[in-house]
Amino acid sequence: MEDNLNLYNTLTRKVERFIPNTPGKVKMYTCGPTVYHYAHIGNLRSYIMEDVLEKFLRFSGYEVKRVMNITDVGHLSSDADTGEDKMLKGAKREHKTVMEIAKFYTDAFFSDCAKLNIKIPDVVEPATNCIADFIHMIEGLLKKGYAYQAGGNIYFDTSKLSEYYVLGNQNAEELAVGVRESVTEDENKRSKTDFVLWFTKSKFEDQELKWESPWGVGYPGWHIECSAISIKHLGDTLDIHCGGIDNAFPHHTNEIAQSESYLGHKWCNYWMHILHLNDSTGKMSKSKGDFLTVSLLKEKGYDPMVYRMFCLQSHYRKPLVFTYEALDNMVSAYNKLVVRIAALEENVEENMEGEREKLAQFCAQFLEAMNDDLNTSQAMTVLYDMLKTEANDATKLAAVDMFDEVFSLGLLDAAKRMKEERSGAGLDEEIVGFIEQKIAERKEAKKAKDFARADAIREELAAKGIAIKDTREGTIWEKM
Ligand code: AMP
Ligand code: ZN
Repeated sequence: MEDNLNLYNTLTRKVERFIPNTPGKVKMYTCGPTVYHYAHIGNLRSYIMEDVLEKFLRFSGYEVKRVMNITDVGHLSSDADTGEDKMLKGAKREHKTVMEIAKFYTDAFFSDCAKLNIKIPDVVEPATNCIADFIHMIEGLLKKGYAYQAGGNIYFDTSKLSEYYVLGNQNAEELAVGVRESVTEDENKRSKTDFVLWFTKSKFEDQELKWESPWGVGYPGWHIECSAISIKHLGDTLDIHCGGIDNAFPHHTNEIAQSESYLGHKWCNYWMHILHLNDSTGKMSKSKGDFLTVSLLKEKGYDPMVYRMFCLQSHYRKPLVFTYEALDNMVSAYNKLVVRIAALEENVEENMEGEREKLAQFCAQFLEAMNDDLNTSQAMTVLYDMLKTEANDATKLAAVDMFDEVFSLGLLDAAKRMKEERSGAGLDEEIVGFIEQKIAERKEAKKAKDFARADAIREELAAKGIAIKDTREGTIWEKM
């Protein structure tokens, strides 16, 4: 098979042809959630775009093995190994044990993923399952002289590397990420960029999860988790590693440092980072306390598919600002799309001449958009344009089905549900078309502040036994 995907690689800072080590096979690693709280919709933007990448690779014909860790130990409140363990913080907040918290929020994470049609990776590995692997890797690093013991902890010695900042030039501001939560610098470190591989001296006496190790009872640092879990399941080389952009430094930088020092060769060829979802006050983050979850969106009446479409309509390498207004617009875009698909007839008795070529052409346009650094919004445009063509309905339905293998917007199911609801309501297509036309006219009238006309339309529909209701998601109607 041909390798046609062009992807931005944070490591080389350019768009490059993605060529896996073994032809046709991709080893993919994704940093998983820290399960001390619900995932917010910002985290889920990253997981949606990683899901799109995985599905697009499969769509293109690659065999993909994807691994994800679950961070249930070692991630401190500052990414630079200081502050309180996030899991402990969660346990204290909810008066539960760390493992209860981990179980609850791991389940919650996968339930959010299911709502958003995010596929579960082939391997999901909680860090607490792999303590022996971490110890083994740390021993290797000590033996090779890349690590040292100080004040009871084991640190990675970044001075041993010819180049540490491989993922871009970090400036003082970016470095400050590591100390953002007003924590004091660790005096045991020989240099500021060194990081902890194994803690035995926790500032917190009540640190719940501890394991025996050659260096005393303690627990692993966060960064070693991803290196060791990746090597355990994917071997000594990795094709692509993904995560949100905040993970590029220090987390991924440290992963590269320790993996390549341990292995003695280049580890991962491509690094994909998803830019952040921001709200009006800046980056959405769990530590801010008040954050948006997919369940909250659902409670407010938003279909999670609308949020997925909101993410697909922007490029993963651009920051995305969340507002309810933008989401409301997406509700109406999603509904309109589903209405259009629902209007397609499955069993068209039309001439199939040339339809195969048309479908192949649609597929080629879709591939072209997606191969251009996963240009999902362009791929959505291909979908819209395809619906406008003269192709017959069966071909259009086949194209929707094909594109949705990657988009995963549940388009055919939603269209089917819409059709069923209508036939359940005992209304034929013509009447439904009339109602929708009237609702559109009323919207225009309201926009033009012609409220008398808007009310007249409401009454006209009421006279036909149709009640309309204005909701946050737009105007809906039902039989009275
Ligand atoms: P965490 O659970 O904090 O370890 O983060 C899980 C994933 O979400 C990581 O890949 C982060 O880089 C990513 N992430 C965190 N905040 C955001 C955000 N506001 N927008 C997009 N991705 C994010
Ligand atoms: Zn990671």
